[in-house]
Amino acid sequence: MNCIFCKIAAGEIPSDKVYEDDRLVAFNDINPQTRVHALVVPKEHIAGAAALTEDHAEIMGRLWTAIPKIAALLGVSEAFKVSVNSGADAGQTVFHLHFHLQSP
Ligand code: AMP
Ligand code: ZN
Repeated sequence: MNCIFCKIAAGEIPSDKVYEDDRLVAFNDINPQTRVHALVVPKEHIAGAAALTEDHAEIMGRLWTAIPKIAALLGVSEAFKVSVNSGADAGQTVFHLHFHLQSP
């Protein structure tokens, strides 16, 4: 599959990784919109939030519970925002699920 975040997750193209475990990876956004701006991405390909089903309950739990750990690594535990753009009209440009983790 020709998916840039699958390739980043697999280490096939470089990224500025800030966290990685067996199921997910987080890396700094190449075009940060805020002082801290990372993307939290499952290693498995999921096209986006609209594609989620009950089958994704475990990975969604893993993603969400990793977020405070990643926020701590980035030094933003006290104040951070998490967002998802779902669909092109909402600003989604990469069709592999990702959470924007940003400083305010
Ligand atoms: P979205 O518009 O919500 O789909 O978010 C996609 C995000 O991915 C944007 O903020 C881009 O700046 C970011 N992005 C695209 N390509 C890369 C890349 N190779 N490395 C890091 N971030 C990227
Ligand atoms: Zn993918």
